Amino acid sequence: MEWNEGMIRNLFSEEAVSMILQIPLSLRSPHDSLFWYPTSDGLFTVRLAYWLGKLGHEDWRQVGAFDRAQRWWRDMGKRNILPKIKHFAGKACNGFMATNETLWRRHTREIVSCTICNHPNETILHATLECNLARSVWDNGDLDQLIQAAPKTAFIDFVSWVENSGRKQAADEVLTLAWAC
Ligand SMILES: [Zn+2]
Repeated sequence: MEWNEGMIRNLFSEEAVSMILQIPLSLRSPHDSLFWYPTSDGLFTVRLAYWLGKLGHEDWRQVGAFDRAQRWWRDMGKRNILPKIKHFAGKACNGFMATNETLWRRHTREIVSCTICNHPNETILHATLECNLARSVWDNGDLDQLIQAAPKTAFIDFVSWVENSGRKQAADEVLTLAWAC
């Protein structure tokens, strides 16, 4: 089984063609099917397209986090947290927080590095957890160990992990401290 190289070249740019041709094909020869990869059910929604558009360049970690962020946000409404913290959490979990990386992806800023510590990539996780400024907040608290153990793939993964660690209270503290960073 091989890619139909001629057809691919007719449809895509040079750069995309070389990326497609590097993708190995299945040895089982399954039938072709349409699949919209950013959602777990494979269905395209206008809501998600809008969200991707706002993100600018796609980031696979953020794309994968969309479903999880939506579910999490539904529960968030019922929780007893200050509205400004909820607002912050919603933006951070949906990748809309104004860090240099998110602004760069939306073409409104030219530098992607952190202006505080010069880290090469000021992501939301960097700004809220890893930056020198953030570290000075976390290092002084007993939440530090929990934060070290949590996954850092996307902000939503981090927050959900803390919530599922059996310390609901800690999750609220984490959001409040992250907001303060
Ligand atoms: Zn930094």
